[in-house]
Amino acid sequence: MELRILTSGGAETALEESVIGAFEGRLRGDLLRPGDAGYEEARKVWNGMIDKRPALIARAASVADVMNSVNFARENDLLVAVRGGGHNVAGTGTVDGGLLIDLSRMKGIRVDPEQRTAHVEPGVTLGELDRKTQSFGLAVPLGVVSETGIAGLTLGGGLGWLRRKHGLSSDNIISVDVVSADGRFLSASDEENPELFWGIRGGGGNFGVVTCFEYRLHPVGPEVMFDFVFYPGERTKQVLRSLNEFMTQAPDEVSPVGVLGRVPHDETFPEEWHGEQFVAILAMYSGEVEEGERVLRPLRELGEPIVDFSGRMPYVEAQAVLDEDYPEGGRYYWKSHNVNGLGDEEIEHLIAHAEAAPSAHSTIDVWYQGGAMGRVGAAETAFGDRGAPILLGIEANWEEPHDDEANVTWARECVSDMRRFSDGGMYLNFPGFMEEGQKLMQEAYGQNYGRLVALKDEHDPANLFRLNQNIKPTA
Ligand SMILES: Cc1cc2nc3c(=O)[nH]c(=O)nc-3n(C[C@H](O)[C@H](O)[C@H](O)COP(=O)(O)OP(=O)(O)OC[C@H]3O[C@@H](n4cnc5c(N)ncnc54)[C@H](O)[C@@H]3O)c2cc1C
Repeated sequence: MELRILTSGGAETALEESVIGAFEGRLRGDLLRPGDAGYEEARKVWNGMIDKRPALIARAASVADVMNSVNFARENDLLVAVRGGGHNVAGTGTVDGGLLIDLSRMKGIRVDPEQRTAHVEPGVTLGELDRKTQSFGLAVPLGVVSETGIAGLTLGGGLGWLRRKHGLSSDNIISVDVVSADGRFLSASDEENPELFWGIRGGGGNFGVVTCFEYRLHPVGPEVMFDFVFYPGERTKQVLRSLNEFMTQAPDEVSPVGVLGRVPHDETFPEEWHGEQFVAILAMYSGEVEEGERVLRPLRELGEPIVDFSGRMPYVEAQAVLDEDYPEGGRYYWKSHNVNGLGDEEIEHLIAHAEAAPSAHSTIDVWYQGGAMGRVGAAETAFGDRGAPILLGIEANWEEPHDDEANVTWARECVSDMRRFSDGGMYLNFPGFMEEGQKLMQEAYGQNYGRLVALKDEHDPANLFRLNQNIKPTA
Protein backbone atom coordinates (compact mmCIF):
# COMPACT_ATOMS: atom_id res chain seq x y z
CA MET A 1 0.00 0.00 0.00
CA GLU A 2 1.13 3.52 -0.71
CA LEU A 3 -0.24 7.04 -0.52
CA ARG A 4 -0.05 9.59 -3.34
CA ILE A 5 1.17 12.91 -1.95
CA LEU A 6 2.73 16.10 -3.33
CA THR A 7 6.37 17.07 -2.96
CA SER A 8 7.48 20.60 -2.10
CA GLY A 9 7.86 21.29 -5.82
CA GLY A 10 4.28 20.18 -6.53
CA ALA A 11 5.08 16.82 -8.17
CA GLU A 12 3.19 13.71 -7.10
CA THR A 13 5.09 11.01 -5.26
CA ALA A 14 4.24 7.79 -3.44
CA LEU A 15 4.82 7.18 0.26
CA GLU A 16 4.95 3.59 1.50
CA GLU A 17 2.37 2.76 4.14
CA SER A 18 5.20 1.50 6.35
CA VAL A 19 6.82 4.96 6.26
CA ILE A 20 3.53 6.63 7.15
CA GLY A 21 2.83 4.04 9.84
CA ALA A 22 6.21 4.68 11.46
CA PHE A 23 5.48 8.44 11.49
CA GLU A 24 2.01 7.85 12.92
CA GLY A 25 3.50 5.68 15.65
CA ARG A 26 5.70 8.55 16.78
CA LEU A 27 2.76 10.98 17.16
CA ARG A 28 0.87 11.53 20.38
CA GLY A 29 -1.84 13.29 18.36
CA ASP A 30 -3.46 11.61 15.38
CA LEU A 31 -2.84 11.31 11.69
CA LEU A 32 -5.82 11.56 9.34
CA ARG A 33 -6.12 10.37 5.74
CA PRO A 34 -9.00 11.07 3.34
CA GLY A 35 -11.88 8.83 4.34
CA ASP A 36 -10.92 8.66 8.04
CA ALA A 37 -13.52 9.66 10.61
CA GLY A 38 -13.01 13.36 11.36
CA TYR A 39 -11.06 14.05 8.14
CA GLU A 40 -13.83 16.11 6.48
CA GLU A 41 -14.18 18.35 9.54
CA ALA A 42 -10.41 18.61 10.04
CA ARG A 43 -9.72 19.70 6.46
CA LYS A 44 -12.07 22.70 6.62
CA VAL A 45 -10.86 26.23 7.11
CA TRP A 46 -12.92 29.28 7.93
CA ASN A 47 -13.08 30.76 4.41
CA GLY A 48 -15.59 28.81 2.32
CA MET A 49 -13.70 29.90 -0.82
CA ILE A 50 -10.94 27.49 0.19
CA ASP A 51 -11.79 23.83 -0.41
CA LYS A 52 -8.61 21.78 -0.18
CA ARG A 53 -7.91 18.13 0.56
CA PRO A 54 -4.61 17.41 2.30
CA ALA A 55 -3.18 13.93 1.67
CA LEU A 56 -2.34 13.74 5.40
CA ILE A 57 -3.36 15.80 8.41
CA ALA A 58 -1.07 15.53 11.43
CA ARG A 59 -3.01 16.82 14.41
CA ALA A 60 -0.19 17.70 16.75
CA ALA A 61 -0.67 17.32 20.48
CA SER A 62 2.80 18.36 21.63
CA VAL A 63 6.08 20.01 20.67
CA ALA A 64 7.48 16.54 19.94
CA ASP A 65 4.63 15.98 17.46
CA VAL A 66 5.52 19.23 15.70
CA MET A 67 9.20 18.22 15.52
CA ASN A 68 8.27 14.79 14.18
CA SER A 69 5.95 16.32 11.59
CA VAL A 70 8.50 18.88 10.40
CA ASN A 71 11.17 16.18 10.15
CA PHE A 72 8.79 13.87 8.28
CA ALA A 73 7.93 16.66 5.83
CA ARG A 74 11.55 17.60 5.21
CA GLU A 75 12.92 14.05 4.96
CA ASN A 76 10.25 13.15 2.40
CA ASP A 77 10.37 16.52 0.64
CA LEU A 78 6.62 17.09 1.15
CA LEU A 79 4.50 20.11 0.40
CA VAL A 80 3.52 21.28 3.88
CA ALA A 81 1.02 23.72 5.38
CA VAL A 82 0.82 24.85 9.00
CA ARG A 83 -2.45 25.74 10.70
CA GLY A 84 -3.19 27.59 13.93
CA GLY A 85 -6.78 28.83 14.08
CA GLY A 86 -7.52 28.18 10.37
CA HIS A 87 -8.71 31.77 9.84
CA ASN A 88 -6.19 32.93 7.29
CA VAL A 89 -8.26 34.68 4.66
CA ALA A 90 -6.00 33.46 1.84
CA GLY A 91 -6.45 29.90 3.13
CA THR A 92 -2.77 29.28 3.73
CA GLY A 93 -3.65 27.07 6.70
CA THR A 94 -4.35 24.09 4.46
CA VAL A 95 -3.03 22.37 1.33
CA ASP A 96 -4.25 20.30 -1.58
CA GLY A 97 -2.49 16.96 -1.75
CA GLY A 98 0.26 17.70 0.81
CA LEU A 99 0.83 17.38 4.56
CA LEU A 100 -1.08 19.67 6.91
CA ILE A 101 0.45 20.20 10.34
CA ASP A 102 -2.61 21.16 12.36
CA LEU A 103 -1.83 22.85 15.68
CA SER A 104 -5.43 23.63 16.60
CA ARG A 105 -5.46 21.12 19.45
CA MET A 106 -2.45 22.66 21.18
CA LYS A 107 -4.41 24.87 23.54
CA GLY A 108 -2.23 25.32 26.62
CA ILE A 109 -2.34 28.74 28.33
CA ARG A 110 -0.33 29.63 31.43
CA VAL A 111 -0.84 33.10 32.90
CA ASP A 112 1.60 34.59 35.42
CA PRO A 113 -0.36 37.48 36.95
CA GLU A 114 2.62 38.62 39.03
CA GLN A 115 4.97 38.97 36.06
CA ARG A 116 2.07 39.91 33.75
CA THR A 117 3.03 37.34 31.16
CA ALA A 118 1.22 34.49 29.40
CA HIS A 119 2.69 31.42 27.71
CA VAL A 120 0.28 30.38 24.97
CA GLU A 121 0.23 27.43 22.58
CA PRO A 122 -0.57 28.02 18.89
CA GLY A 123 -4.00 26.37 18.71
CA VAL A 124 -5.56 28.93 21.03
CA THR A 125 -8.17 31.36 19.71
CA LEU A 126 -8.50 35.00 20.69
CA GLY A 127 -11.60 34.37 22.80
CA GLU A 128 -9.95 31.52 24.68
CA LEU A 129 -6.95 33.67 25.55
CA ASP A 130 -9.07 36.70 26.48
CA ARG A 131 -11.23 34.65 28.85
CA LYS A 132 -8.18 33.27 30.60
CA THR A 133 -6.26 36.54 30.94
CA GLN A 134 -9.39 38.43 31.99
CA SER A 135 -9.74 36.23 35.07
CA PHE A 136 -6.74 38.27 36.25
CA GLY A 137 -7.94 41.61 34.82
CA LEU A 138 -5.25 41.40 32.14
CA ALA A 139 -5.18 41.17 28.35
CA VAL A 140 -2.90 40.68 25.34
CA PRO A 141 -3.64 43.09 22.47
CA LEU A 142 -5.34 40.82 19.91
CA GLY A 143 -7.79 41.20 16.99
CA VAL A 144 -11.49 42.03 16.89
CA VAL A 145 -13.14 38.64 16.19
CA SER A 146 -12.85 36.13 19.01
CA GLU A 147 -12.72 32.96 16.90
CA THR A 148 -9.53 33.96 15.05
CA GLY A 149 -6.35 32.03 15.89
CA ILE A 150 -3.71 33.82 17.95
CA ALA A 151 -0.87 32.24 15.95
CA GLY A 152 -1.40 33.49 12.41
CA LEU A 153 -2.72 36.81 13.73
CA THR A 154 0.32 37.44 15.92
CA LEU A 155 2.89 36.27 13.37
CA GLY A 156 1.43 38.67 10.80
CA GLY A 157 1.11 41.63 13.21
CA GLY A 158 -2.23 41.66 15.03
CA LEU A 159 -4.44 44.77 14.90
CA GLY A 160 -7.17 45.20 17.47
CA TRP A 161 -8.92 47.53 19.90
CA LEU A 162 -5.77 48.01 22.02
CA ARG A 163 -3.37 48.78 19.18
CA ARG A 164 -2.91 52.50 19.87
CA LYS A 165 -2.54 51.93 23.61
CA HIS A 166 -0.39 48.79 23.69
CA GLY A 167 0.71 48.12 20.10
CA LEU A 168 0.26 45.17 17.79
CA SER A 169 -0.01 41.60 19.10
CA SER A 170 3.47 40.99 17.71
CA ASP A 171 4.83 44.01 19.61
CA ASN A 172 3.79 42.21 22.79
CA ILE A 173 5.74 39.00 22.27
CA ILE A 174 8.48 38.55 24.85
CA SER A 175 9.76 35.27 23.42
CA VAL A 176 8.76 32.33 21.25
CA ASP A 177 9.66 28.66 20.98
CA VAL A 178 10.13 27.58 17.38
CA VAL A 179 10.66 24.29 15.57
CA SER A 180 12.90 25.23 12.67
CA ALA A 181 12.91 23.69 9.18
CA ASP A 182 15.84 21.47 10.15
CA GLY A 183 13.87 20.14 13.13
CA ARG A 184 15.71 22.03 15.86
CA PHE A 185 13.85 23.44 18.86
CA LEU A 186 14.87 27.09 19.27
CA SER A 187 13.89 29.91 21.55
CA ALA A 188 13.92 33.46 20.29
CA SER A 189 13.80 36.71 22.24
CA ASP A 190 15.76 39.94 22.46
CA GLU A 191 18.56 37.96 24.13
CA GLU A 192 18.43 34.63 22.32
CA ASN A 193 18.42 34.36 18.51
CA PRO A 194 17.54 38.07 18.26
CA GLU A 195 17.46 38.14 14.46
CA LEU A 196 14.96 35.29 14.39
CA PHE A 197 12.96 37.13 17.04
CA TRP A 198 12.97 40.22 14.83
CA GLY A 199 11.68 38.18 11.88
CA ILE A 200 8.96 36.37 13.82
CA ARG A 201 7.33 39.71 14.70
CA GLY A 202 5.54 40.29 11.41
CA GLY A 203 7.33 37.74 9.20
CA GLY A 204 4.54 35.15 9.40
CA GLY A 205 5.25 31.42 9.36
CA ASN A 206 8.38 31.71 7.21
CA PHE A 207 10.99 30.76 9.76
CA GLY A 208 9.58 27.76 11.59
CA VAL A 209 6.60 26.49 13.54
CA VAL A 210 5.98 28.45 16.71
CA THR A 211 4.98 26.12 19.53
CA CYS A 212 4.69 28.74 22.27
CA PHE A 213 4.20 32.50 22.40
CA GLU A 214 5.20 34.34 25.56
CA TYR A 215 3.17 37.56 25.68
CA ARG A 216 3.28 40.69 27.78
CA LEU A 217 -0.06 41.35 29.54
CA HIS A 218 -1.70 44.67 30.34
CA PRO A 219 -4.36 45.64 32.85
CA VAL A 220 -7.64 45.97 30.90
CA GLY A 221 -11.30 45.74 31.94
CA PRO A 222 -13.00 43.69 33.29
CA GLU A 223 -15.47 46.30 31.93
CA VAL A 224 -14.73 48.72 29.12
CA MET A 225 -16.62 51.47 27.32
CA PHE A 226 -17.36 50.47 23.74
CA ASP A 227 -18.80 52.79 21.09
CA PHE A 228 -20.78 51.02 18.38
CA VAL A 229 -22.93 53.53 16.53
CA PHE A 230 -24.47 53.45 13.06
CA TYR A 231 -25.28 56.63 11.08
CA PRO A 232 -27.10 56.96 7.73
CA GLY A 233 -24.82 56.52 4.72
CA GLU A 234 -25.76 59.97 3.44
CA ARG A 235 -23.82 61.39 6.40
CA THR A 236 -20.62 59.45 5.65
CA LYS A 237 -18.61 62.51 4.70
CA GLN A 238 -19.52 64.49 7.83
CA VAL A 239 -19.05 61.47 10.12
CA LEU A 240 -15.61 60.57 8.77
CA ARG A 241 -14.54 64.22 8.80
CA SER A 242 -15.57 64.41 12.45
CA LEU A 243 -13.78 61.17 13.26
CA ASN A 244 -10.62 62.51 11.58
CA GLU A 245 -10.89 65.68 13.63
CA PHE A 246 -11.50 63.68 16.82
CA MET A 247 -8.40 61.58 16.13
CA THR A 248 -6.12 64.63 15.96
CA GLN A 249 -6.68 65.01 19.74
CA ALA A 250 -7.59 61.45 20.75
CA PRO A 251 -5.68 59.71 23.53
CA ASP A 252 -3.99 56.36 22.84
CA GLU A 253 -6.81 54.64 24.75
CA VAL A 254 -8.97 55.06 21.63
CA SER A 255 -8.34 52.79 18.59
CA PRO A 256 -11.35 53.29 16.32
CA VAL A 257 -12.51 51.69 13.12
CA GLY A 258 -14.92 53.49 10.78
CA VAL A 259 -17.03 51.11 8.68
CA LEU A 260 -18.94 51.72 5.44
CA GLY A 261 -21.51 49.08 4.57
CA ARG A 262 -25.18 48.23 4.24
CA VAL A 263 -27.61 47.76 7.15
CA PRO A 264 -28.29 44.04 7.62
CA HIS A 265 -31.80 42.61 7.44
CA ASP A 266 -31.68 41.96 11.13
CA GLU A 267 -34.27 42.73 13.78
CA THR A 268 -31.75 44.65 15.90
CA PHE A 269 -31.88 47.41 13.25
CA PRO A 270 -35.02 49.48 12.46
CA GLU A 271 -36.72 47.83 9.49
CA GLU A 272 -36.91 51.00 7.40
CA TRP A 273 -33.11 51.05 7.30
CA HIS A 274 -32.61 47.46 6.14
CA GLY A 275 -30.41 47.36 3.03
CA GLU A 276 -29.52 51.08 3.23
CA GLN A 277 -25.94 52.37 3.31
CA PHE A 278 -24.48 53.13 6.75
CA VAL A 279 -21.33 54.56 8.21
CA ALA A 280 -20.48 53.16 11.63
CA ILE A 281 -17.93 54.02 14.30
CA LEU A 282 -16.57 51.28 16.52
CA ALA A 283 -14.16 52.12 19.31
CA MET A 284 -13.14 50.68 22.64
CA TYR A 285 -11.75 52.87 25.39
CA SER A 286 -8.94 50.93 27.04
CA GLY A 287 -8.99 52.72 30.38
CA GLU A 288 -11.35 53.69 33.15
CA VAL A 289 -14.99 53.15 32.06
CA GLU A 290 -16.46 56.52 33.13
CA GLU A 291 -13.60 58.35 31.48
CA GLY A 292 -14.20 56.27 28.35
CA GLU A 293 -17.87 57.18 28.36
CA ARG A 294 -16.91 60.87 28.47
CA VAL A 295 -14.10 60.70 25.90
CA LEU A 296 -16.06 58.65 23.37
CA ARG A 297 -19.35 60.53 23.76
CA PRO A 298 -18.73 63.00 20.88
CA LEU A 299 -18.53 60.09 18.45
CA ARG A 300 -22.11 59.19 19.42
CA GLU A 301 -23.39 62.70 18.83
CA LEU A 302 -22.67 63.18 15.15
CA GLY A 303 -26.34 63.50 14.24
CA GLU A 304 -29.32 61.18 14.63
CA PRO A 305 -28.00 57.59 14.52
CA ILE A 306 -29.76 54.67 12.83
CA VAL A 307 -29.01 52.78 16.01
CA ASP A 308 -26.53 53.13 18.85
CA PHE A 309 -25.40 49.91 20.51
CA SER A 310 -22.71 51.69 22.56
CA GLY A 311 -22.30 51.04 26.23
CA ARG A 312 -20.15 49.65 28.97
CA MET A 313 -19.60 45.93 28.66
CA PRO A 314 -17.21 43.19 29.76
CA TYR A 315 -13.97 43.30 27.77
CA VAL A 316 -14.50 39.73 26.55
CA GLU A 317 -17.91 40.74 25.21
CA ALA A 318 -16.50 43.77 23.41
CA GLN A 319 -13.90 41.48 21.88
CA ALA A 320 -16.72 39.44 20.34
CA VAL A 321 -19.21 42.08 19.14
CA LEU A 322 -18.37 41.32 15.50
CA ASP A 323 -18.31 37.52 15.73
CA GLU A 324 -21.73 36.96 14.21
CA ASP A 325 -20.80 38.91 11.10
CA TYR A 326 -18.19 36.34 10.08
CA PRO A 327 -19.78 32.89 9.93
CA GLU A 328 -17.51 29.98 9.16
CA GLY A 329 -17.95 28.70 5.61
CA GLY A 330 -19.02 32.07 4.16
CA ARG A 331 -17.04 33.33 1.20
CA TYR A 332 -14.42 36.00 1.84
CA TYR A 333 -11.78 37.98 -0.03
CA TRP A 334 -10.09 40.73 1.96
CA LYS A 335 -7.50 43.21 0.80
CA SER A 336 -5.90 46.20 2.43
CA HIS A 337 -3.96 49.33 1.74
CA ASN A 338 -2.45 52.18 3.73
CA VAL A 339 -3.61 55.70 2.92
CA ASN A 340 -2.06 58.99 3.93
CA GLY A 341 -5.27 60.44 5.33
CA LEU A 342 -8.95 60.79 4.57
CA GLY A 343 -9.77 64.11 2.94
CA ASP A 344 -13.00 64.80 1.07
CA GLU A 345 -11.72 63.30 -2.15
CA GLU A 346 -10.65 60.05 -0.48
CA ILE A 347 -14.00 59.83 1.30
CA GLU A 348 -15.90 60.38 -1.95
CA HIS A 349 -14.02 57.49 -3.53
CA LEU A 350 -14.75 55.28 -0.52
CA ILE A 351 -18.45 56.11 -0.67
CA ALA A 352 -18.59 55.24 -4.37
CA HIS A 353 -16.87 51.90 -3.77
CA ALA A 354 -19.08 51.05 -0.80
CA GLU A 355 -22.19 51.77 -2.86
CA ALA A 356 -20.87 49.60 -5.71
CA ALA A 357 -20.30 46.52 -3.51
CA PRO A 358 -22.11 43.53 -5.08
CA SER A 359 -22.75 41.98 -1.68
CA ALA A 360 -24.72 43.57 1.16
CA HIS A 361 -22.34 41.89 3.66
CA SER A 362 -19.23 43.61 2.34
CA THR A 363 -17.63 46.53 4.13
CA ILE A 364 -14.83 49.04 3.82
CA ASP A 365 -13.05 49.42 7.15
CA VAL A 366 -11.06 52.48 8.13
CA TRP A 367 -8.50 51.46 10.77
CA TYR A 368 -6.94 54.45 12.53
CA GLN A 369 -3.34 53.62 13.35
CA GLY A 370 -0.69 55.59 15.27
CA GLY A 371 -0.30 55.70 19.03
CA ALA A 372 1.78 52.88 20.54
CA MET A 373 1.79 50.81 17.36
CA GLY A 374 3.04 53.83 15.40
CA ARG A 375 5.89 54.49 17.81
CA VAL A 376 7.67 51.23 16.92
CA GLY A 377 10.29 51.99 14.28
CA ALA A 378 10.04 50.41 10.81
CA ALA A 379 13.28 48.46 11.32
CA GLU A 380 12.58 47.39 14.90
CA THR A 381 10.44 44.42 13.87
CA ALA A 382 9.87 42.65 10.56
CA PHE A 383 6.35 44.09 10.37
CA GLY A 384 7.81 47.21 8.79
CA ASP A 385 6.69 50.79 8.47
CA ARG A 386 3.79 51.98 10.60
CA GLY A 387 3.85 55.60 9.52
CA ALA A 388 0.54 55.65 7.64
CA PRO A 389 -2.27 57.11 9.75
CA ILE A 390 -4.93 54.87 8.21
CA LEU A 391 -5.20 51.32 6.93
CA LEU A 392 -8.12 50.51 4.67
CA GLY A 393 -9.51 47.00 4.98
CA ILE A 394 -11.59 46.06 1.95
CA GLU A 395 -13.77 43.14 2.96
CA ALA A 396 -15.72 41.32 0.27
CA ASN A 397 -18.05 38.99 2.21
CA TRP A 398 -20.69 36.98 0.33
CA GLU A 399 -22.46 33.62 0.25
CA GLU A 400 -22.82 32.08 -3.19
CA PRO A 401 -20.05 30.64 -5.41
CA HIS A 402 -21.61 32.18 -8.52
CA ASP A 403 -20.92 35.61 -7.00
CA ASP A 404 -17.20 34.95 -6.53
CA GLU A 405 -15.93 36.85 -9.50
CA ALA A 406 -18.01 39.98 -8.95
CA ASN A 407 -16.96 40.24 -5.31
CA VAL A 408 -13.28 39.56 -5.82
CA THR A 409 -13.22 42.08 -8.67
CA TRP A 410 -14.93 44.70 -6.50
CA ALA A 411 -12.28 44.40 -3.76
CA ARG A 412 -9.43 44.48 -6.26
CA GLU A 413 -10.79 47.55 -8.02
CA CYS A 414 -11.31 49.38 -4.77
CA VAL A 415 -7.73 48.76 -3.63
CA SER A 416 -6.29 49.62 -6.97
CA ASP A 417 -8.23 52.90 -7.07
CA MET A 418 -7.30 53.92 -3.50
CA ARG A 419 -3.58 53.46 -4.18
CA ARG A 420 -3.50 56.99 -5.57
CA PHE A 421 -3.94 58.25 -1.99
CA SER A 422 -1.09 56.21 -0.59
CA ASP A 423 2.69 56.14 -0.23
CA GLY A 424 2.41 52.34 -0.25
CA GLY A 425 2.18 49.62 2.32
CA MET A 426 -0.52 47.10 3.17
CA TYR A 427 -1.31 44.56 5.89
CA LEU A 428 -0.45 40.95 5.15
CA ASN A 429 -3.19 39.55 7.39
CA PHE A 430 -5.70 41.07 4.92
CA PRO A 431 -3.88 39.87 1.79
CA GLY A 432 -6.42 38.80 -0.82
CA PHE A 433 -5.07 35.49 -2.06
CA MET A 434 -1.51 36.89 -2.19
CA GLU A 435 -1.79 36.49 -5.94
CA GLU A 436 0.82 39.24 -6.47
CA GLY A 437 3.54 36.95 -5.00
CA GLN A 438 6.86 38.58 -4.06
CA LYS A 439 5.66 41.97 -5.28
CA LEU A 440 3.15 41.98 -2.44
CA MET A 441 5.82 40.95 0.08
CA GLN A 442 8.10 43.75 -1.13
CA GLU A 443 5.28 46.23 -0.85
CA ALA A 444 4.26 45.09 2.64
CA TYR A 445 7.75 44.79 4.11
CA GLY A 446 9.36 47.73 2.33
CA GLN A 447 12.91 48.29 3.55
CA ASN A 448 12.78 45.10 5.66
CA TYR A 449 12.31 42.77 2.68
CA GLY A 450 16.03 42.17 2.01
CA ARG A 451 16.71 41.42 5.67
CA LEU A 452 13.82 38.93 5.66
CA VAL A 453 15.23 37.16 2.60
CA ALA A 454 18.59 36.85 4.41
CA LEU A 455 16.82 35.39 7.47
CA LYS A 456 14.89 32.97 5.25
CA ASP A 457 18.17 31.92 3.60
CA GLU A 458 19.54 31.17 7.05
CA HIS A 459 16.56 29.35 8.58
CA ASP A 460 14.70 27.80 5.65
CA PRO A 461 16.86 27.86 2.50
CA ALA A 462 14.79 25.09 0.85
CA ASN A 463 11.54 26.96 1.55
CA LEU A 464 9.92 24.08 3.44
CA PHE A 465 7.54 26.66 4.93
CA ARG A 466 6.24 28.12 1.69
CA LEU A 467 2.45 28.08 2.07
CA ASN A 468 2.26 31.38 3.92
CA GLN A 469 3.08 35.04 3.31
CA ASN A 470 6.09 33.58 1.65
CA ILE A 471 9.50 35.24 1.59
CA LYS A 472 11.33 33.39 -1.17
CA PRO A 473 14.87 32.34 -0.23
CA THR A 474 17.64 33.26 -2.64
CA ALA A 475 18.25 29.69 -3.79
C1 LIG B 1 -13.09 36.70 10.99
C2 LIG B 1 -11.69 37.24 10.97
C3 LIG B 1 -11.39 38.38 11.68
C4 LIG B 1 -10.10 38.88 11.68
N1 LIG B 1 -9.82 40.00 12.41
C5 LIG B 1 -8.55 40.45 12.47
C6 LIG B 1 -8.22 41.54 13.31
O1 LIG B 1 -9.05 42.10 13.98
N2 LIG B 1 -6.94 41.95 13.34
C7 LIG B 1 -5.97 41.34 12.61
O2 LIG B 1 -4.84 41.76 12.70
N3 LIG B 1 -6.25 40.31 11.80
C8 LIG B 1 -7.52 39.85 11.72
N4 LIG B 1 -7.82 38.80 10.91
C9 LIG B 1 -6.79 38.24 10.05
C10 LIG B 1 -6.01 37.20 10.81
O3 LIG B 1 -5.00 37.83 11.55
C11 LIG B 1 -5.35 36.21 9.84
O4 LIG B 1 -6.34 35.65 9.04
C12 LIG B 1 -4.53 35.15 10.55
O5 LIG B 1 -3.79 34.45 9.58
C13 LIG B 1 -5.39 34.17 11.31
O6 LIG B 1 -4.59 33.33 12.08
P1 LIG B 1 -4.96 31.78 12.25
O7 LIG B 1 -3.98 31.16 13.16
O8 LIG B 1 -6.41 31.65 12.58
O9 LIG B 1 -4.76 31.30 10.76
P2 LIG B 1 -4.25 29.96 10.08
O10 LIG B 1 -4.98 29.90 8.80
O11 LIG B 1 -4.31 28.81 10.98
O12 LIG B 1 -2.74 30.27 9.84
C14 LIG B 1 -2.34 31.29 8.98
C15 LIG B 1 -0.90 31.14 8.63
O13 LIG B 1 -0.11 31.48 9.74
C16 LIG B 1 1.00 30.62 9.82
N5 LIG B 1 0.94 29.93 11.10
C17 LIG B 1 -0.14 29.66 11.85
N6 LIG B 1 0.25 29.10 12.99
C18 LIG B 1 1.58 29.04 12.96
C19 LIG B 1 2.58 28.61 13.88
N7 LIG B 1 2.27 28.16 15.09
N8 LIG B 1 3.86 28.68 13.51
C20 LIG B 1 4.22 29.15 12.30
N9 LIG B 1 3.33 29.58 11.41
C21 LIG B 1 2.03 29.54 11.75
C22 LIG B 1 0.95 29.69 8.67
O14 LIG B 1 1.75 30.21 7.63
C23 LIG B 1 -0.48 29.74 8.26
O15 LIG B 1 -0.64 29.54 6.91
C24 LIG B 1 -9.09 38.26 10.92
C25 LIG B 1 -9.40 37.11 10.18
C26 LIG B 1 -10.68 36.61 10.22
C27 LIG B 1 -10.99 35.40 9.44
